[in-house]
Amino acid sequence: MDRYQPPTRELKLARREARSERTVVRLESGASFGGDLLAIAAGPCSVESAEQIDATAKAVARAGANLLRGGAFKPRTSPYAFQGLGQRGLELLAAAAGRYGLGVVTEVMDPRDVPLVARYADMLQIGARNMQNFALLREAGESGKPVLLKRGLSATVDEWLMAAEYLLLAGNEKVVLCERGVRSFDQATRNVLDLSVVPLLAELTHLPVIVDPSHGTGIARLVEPMSMAAIAAGADGLLVEVHPDPASAVSDGSQSLRPEAFAGLMEALAPVAASVGRRLPAASLAA
Ligand code: PEP
Ligand code: MN
Repeated sequence: MDRYQPPTRELKLARREARSERTVVRLESGASFGGDLLAIAAGPCSVESAEQIDATAKAVARAGANLLRGGAFKPRTSPYAFQGLGQRGLELLAAAAGRYGLGVVTEVMDPRDVPLVARYADMLQIGARNMQNFALLREAGESGKPVLLKRGLSATVDEWLMAAEYLLLAGNEKVVLCERGVRSFDQATRNVLDLSVVPLLAELTHLPVIVDPSHGTGIARLVEPMSMAAIAAGADGLLVEVHPDPASAVSDGSQSLRPEAFAGLMEALAPVAASVGRRLPAASLAA
């Protein structure tokens, strides 16, 4: 065997051979994943306040992101940690995105919340901790909303593709994979960002793949070099945490970029994107 082979023959819909063309996932907001245009989702880990999400949306739109991210339902290790603003967070997120011409991607954790989150979001995020929540996969699949499926904390490529298969089998073709790092023995970074899956998945599946260097490293200063590496490796976009004041963020401040650093990242990315025949979204005129 000269390369990894998915051990499972059941991968009927997600495997590369199932489609003649690669899948391009288009959102109602105009963002797309898988074509020449890269998808750049940026924003805070958690939606915290109207001021915080407005300032972030404005800054990331100005720098050239085309999607605003931000969690309203947060999967926290501790039940005592901030759990998210819930519906109020969704309202704030969607309003801020609308003001600056951005699409919305946000996490849904509970199958019962899929209709609610789908009302505010252009794309549902299924987080690492829920990659194999099969009830959630079925519900998100049936919703027909585009889904961003993050790789599980210690999921194999095969398990991840099988989770995508649940979405496709439920009739949802708008599925994007997101590499966000996996657990390892080494505590030097929060996770080990597995960029080798980017070109590997291009062989194994027709689905687009983006990279989250924020959760992948847990360290803000590593986000720019790993973003450049991800795009060079062929990723269809990025998910980057940005916060107007990372030191005061209620979650994931240490991996969040300040707005100026995000603008610098977008400038640094332009020649990398061009070198692999891709282009960055145009900065929003609304910002
Ligand atoms: C997030 O995007 O804020 C998040 C919780 O990510 P993950 O599910 O990859 O840990
Ligand atoms: Mn986070």
